[in-house]
Amino acid sequence: KHDIHIIGGGLAGSEAAWQLAQRGFKVRLSEMRGGGGTTPAHNTDALAEMVCSNSFRSDDDEKNAVGLLHHEMRRLDSLVMRAAETARVPAGTALAVDRDIFSAAVQRALDEHPNVTVIRERIDALPESGLTIVATGPLTAASLAQSIGAATGQDALAFFDAIAPIVHRDSIDMDICWFQSRWDKPSAGGDADSEGKDYINCAMNREEYLAFHQGLIDGEKTTFKEWEENTPYFEGCMPIEVMAARGVDTLRYGPMKPVGLDDPRTACEEFPQGRWPYAVVQLRQDNKLGTLWNMVGFQTKLKHAAQVELFRTIPGLQNAEFARLGGLHRNTFLNAPMVLDRELRLKEAPHIRFAGQITGCEGYVESAAVGLMTGLMTAAEITGQPWQAPPRTAAMGALLAHITGDAEAETYQPMNINFGLFPPLHDVNKKSRKEAYTSRGKADFGEWMMASELVTA
Ligand code: FAD
Repeated sequence: KHDIHIIGGGLAGSEAAWQLAQRGFKVRLSEMRGGGGTTPAHNTDALAEMVCSNSFRSDDDEKNAVGLLHHEMRRLDSLVMRAAETARVPAGTALAVDRDIFSAAVQRALDEHPNVTVIRERIDALPESGLTIVATGPLTAASLAQSIGAATGQDALAFFDAIAPIVHRDSIDMDICWFQSRWDKPSAGGDADSEGKDYINCAMNREEYLAFHQGLIDGEKTTFKEWEENTPYFEGCMPIEVMAARGVDTLRYGPMKPVGLDDPRTACEEFPQGRWPYAVVQLRQDNKLGTLWNMVGFQTKLKHAAQVELFRTIPGLQNAEFARLGGLHRNTFLNAPMVLDRELRLKEAPHIRFAGQITGCEGYVESAAVGLMTGLMTAAEITGQPWQAPPRTAAMGALLAHITGDAEAETYQPMNINFGLFPPLHDVNKKSRKEAYTSRGKADFGEWMMASELVTA
């Protein structure tokens, strides 16, 4: 007899199982690998297999948001962080591991735990009752995905991401760009500065546009993995370079359409508001804090370095800092801000929580962190204690707030942890801002741990 059923023994499910087991709850952990199932990306039957890179990225908890997430996870006795320490290999300031030693350490800790039963089985439908955590990841088995889609509505479950780059607002040069919605149309409820000014616009002249168009066509692209090759290009999220290849003016009739946008830098007596440029790149607010802006229609398979180089040629984005670069992958994820509550429970079936990449976070560390939080939430729920979310100034709190409601549901796409998700610190000068974010986060996280009686050391 178990208290909680966790489906999926990846990074998130393993971490959630550990957190619950350590608090005395009996966990049944169902993992399909080793029980007849697998995914196209996994190569072993080990729990918490890292399917690609062997890195948990930066371990710098003073200047880096993912480093801060490591710090918080360690404070909460994360199994993923423990195992990573055991498996650590030299990698400068990054936390890289021997993936086999890492997975073996996770597996051993759970196999040996008296409160965990690992069962090698594929689960094909959401359980109708009983506390459940679904952590089946970006390659959730089709049968279960179908059941999730039926519970959430098909529109809320995506099978591919189509990620447009996201830019930190304070790196956009507003002496060159301007706020304006096309035809000055007021928005239906955006949070931007004022009505009819919801977008940030970057104008291009003909020469700049032609060079940019060529750059899209020539830029180095990533290729699909064999099993991703039938990725559908929906008209609404076609890669920008695929659109560019259709014709030199296709983008000027699509995402780079200049009509109804008056560049104030060209204002003159005849056109006091300014004239329409040759082409425009538009950015739209991506989070409620207004710190992150996405490049509308710019989902792309250009390599990351090529994106940075080319997108910094856009007037006004010459110093752009990217919170996330564009991409297109097979990825099963929920529109979490729409269908999950603030505790990651399915609004329509609150006995079910979701954890890991299926919630729309991105990456090993983020997935494990969300797994960790679902463990804590479930433990609080069983014991009848009110759940206090980590502060938004901490990495876990910022990530959770983003997933569960701060992100715009309409444009929701997977997200890594980054400082753009934190409440901004405008009064701190740019040079010391990263340290200011991490020291504020650590202090607030410590207080939250004390208040939530989570201090274990
Ligand atoms: P997973 O780790 O995928 O775990 C989900 C588990 O659920 C799997 O073990 C799966 O077998 C199991 N499962 C699925 N369906 C069922 C079912 N019906 N019943 C029982 N079990 C089931 N992130 C990075 O940080 N760095 C990278 O380099 C990186 N590269 C990636 C490359 C590829 C090709 C892919 C697909 C993803 C990559 N990611 C990378 C993302 C990374 O996989 C995830 O961030 C992370 O593994 C997600 O953790 P998770 O626990 O949510 O899912």
